[in-house]
Parts: sequence; C-alpha cells; structure tokens
Amino acid sequence: MSQPVELRTWHDMLACPICRTHLDAIEIGFRCTNAECGAEFASSGGIPVLINEQRSIFSVSDFMNRKATTFATSDPSLPPRRPSFLRRMIPSNSRSVAPEIDKRFLSQYRKPEQWVLVIGSGDVSYEPSVHSNIIYSDVHVGKAVDLIADAHDIPFQDQCIDAILVIAVMEHVADPQRCAAEIERVLKPGGRILAATPFMQQVHLGRYDFTRFTHLGHRRLWRQFREVESGIACGPGMALAWSWQYFLLSFSENQNTRKYLRAFAKLTSFPLTYFDEYLKQKKGAFDAASSFYFIGEKAEEPMSDRELVASYRGLDNL
Ligand SMILES: [Zn+2]
Repeated sequence: MSQPVELRTWHDMLACPICRTHLDAIEIGFRCTNAECGAEFASSGGIPVLINEQRSIFSVSDFMNRKATTFATSDPSLPPRRPSFLRRMIPSNSRSVAPEIDKRFLSQYRKPEQWVLVIGSGDVSYEPSVHSNIIYSDVHVGKAVDLIADAHDIPFQDQCIDAILVIAVMEHVADPQRCAAEIERVLKPGGRILAATPFMQQVHLGRYDFTRFTHLGHRRLWRQFREVESGIACGPGMALAWSWQYFLLSFSENQNTRKYLRAFAKLTSFPLTYFDEYLKQKKGAFDAASSFYFIGEKAEEPMSDRELVASYRGLDNL
C-alpha cells in the first residue's frame, strides 16, 4: 500500500502581509519570522486577522471586537436570519445571466493539492465534500470565513495558489490595480482568476464602494492575464431596474419609507431583468450591462493597450 501523502494546510502558505516573509503559528495566532519585522497577528474567535494595518482602511481592533465592517457581522453560532415578509414576497430585480459560473470555474479545481482562494467570500461557501481546498477570506467576520485578509496585501506567499475567485469585490477596494497585482503575485504560473465586477450599478455597501468598470476597463485591470472567457454577468435590464429603484430611493431618507419604495421599485421593475437572457448576446448590451465577468489565466506578458481596444465588443458610434 502506498503511503498517504501528507498535504500542506493553507497555514503553511501564509506570509506576513507587511513584509511577505513566512509566518509561524504561535499561541495567539501567527508571528512573522523576519526578525526585523516580527509582526504578530492575533486571531478573533479562531479566525486569524492578517491585516497590514498601516496600509489598510480597516483596523485590527474592528475584527477583534467583531465590529461590523462592510457587512453587519453575523454570529456564526446563530442560525441564518429569515428574510422579512416583504423580502420573501417581492421578486428580486437582480438576475445573473451567467448563473453558476463560479461552480463551473471551481469544477476544474477538485484535486486536494490545488488551492483556491476566495477573496471577499462573505457568507458564501461551496460544497465542502467536493471542495476541501478552498480558503475563504474577507474583511468581515462571515459565517464561512477562514481568515481576515485585505486584498491590497494578500497574506500568502508568492505563487502558491491555483485559482482565485474575486466576485463583486473590485468595486469595493480602494486601489483595484494594487489588488490585481497582489492576486497575480500569489497565483502559480498558469493560475486562473474568476472576476465579476459591476459596470452600471448604483452605490452598494455604502462608504465601501469606489469604482466601476466597462468591459474593456475590466479587461485592462486583468491585463496580466490571458482571457479564457468573458461576458455579461448581469444585463441592461437589471441595470435599468436598479436605476429605477435608486431613483425612487433618492426621494426619501426615512428608513420606513425607503423600505416601501424599495418594494414598489422591485415590483414594478423585476420583469425588465427577464430581457437580459435575450440581450446578453447583443453588442449594445456590452455598453449597458449591469456587470461583467472575466476568466483569465496568468500570463508571462501583459496585454497591450492596442490589443485592448481591438477587443471591444460593444457598438462603435462612429
Ligand atoms: Zn513581516
């Protein structure tokens, strides 16, 4: 009988978010092995907080004290909260036209030696019996979060991750280019990303929302990657439905009024999202979509801006 292979855990791949040197496990969490740095990173309820506090908009104490950051902090010991009656009765005006793209992407990474990192995982978790090699990171203490990490300083060693999911995250980071460079750094050669990022969407997550991307702007953000596939994640119908909702919401600052305005907006706009299934094949939809996805493979050379403009898939108005 062959000897069982001793697998690395993701703890072995961690690096100091300040100086990128290996980390040692210590009683309270982790310590940087670089004597000049020597930074210590404590855990909050078993979740290591691996933040470069000097360069992050978040404070370690926020996580240690379980303060709400981007989302309200969910208590992992409590069952999921039941959505309100209004929420359950009224159809959503959000609709993906690339559903399950994350699961399709993940299906390539089922070998135990392949590591997948989810950045901004929120409360998402995938089938653990199929995927035991997924590391969930976020800047809020979610139900499935393995570690607190800021995408501007990813606390992993160079070239140790096979695939990264970064879904609805890049609009919420202060410096998307720096985060993209960090993602490229920690990926193995030939490693892949699945990114999905909004174009025509109103502000969500309040103060933690900074940037939008056209299809080409998104392509340029990932220029260190060869495109495997890209397209519309949510279409123009959803963009219009959201515009209608936020137009109505801007009339009132009263929480109760806004609740009913939101419900009214959804009821009167959700059918628009059904057009997106048809529109996703139209060129004009590339100029009007709510969000785009991009699957890319880490490349040796970046895409040039000349190639970038040649890859435009919308409608030129010349
Ligand atoms: Zn260090």
